[in-house]
Amino acid sequence: MKLNVVTGQDTPILRIVCDKVENFDKDLKKLAKDMIETMHATNGIGIAAPQVGVNARIFISAINSDTRKPKELVCVNPEVLYRSPEQVVAEEGCLSLPQKFGNVKRASEIFVRFYDLKGKEQNLRLIGMDARVFLHELDHLNGVLFIDKLEKFKIF
Ligand SMILES: [Zn+2]
Repeated sequence: MKLNVVTGQDTPILRIVCDKVENFDKDLKKLAKDMIETMHATNGIGIAAPQVGVNARIFISAINSDTRKPKELVCVNPEVLYRSPEQVVAEEGCLSLPQKFGNVKRASEIFVRFYDLKGKEQNLRLIGMDARVFLHELDHLNGVLFIDKLEKFKIF
């Protein structure tokens, strides 16, 4: 089922630190399925629970989105274990901030840990766009939007 996407930079659900997921139950699976459907319907490459009005630390992050083998990662209670000192600036947008785009600096490589829908721990190394999407979605779980961290300069 496609869910409504919450928009607006001052919308309360987009500005809270979300609660940890404790129950890996069928409600969580249903939420993840609906979030994936919503992400595809809106042509997004990531979507976080608060963006569909849910206070929970779960997001969907598309990886390999620039290839023929895109895959959706369902990330529950995600954490970043390592961020490379090398950072890259690239343009971002957000389903919750329609028509807004801007340059954000993020680590070019990260090591992350999260739990899948079965509650099994997953560890991954992500680079480039995959790292960027993961970090953008993780920010959502902490009430942070990309417009909070815009670079002061423009790239043309
Ligand atoms: Zn976003």
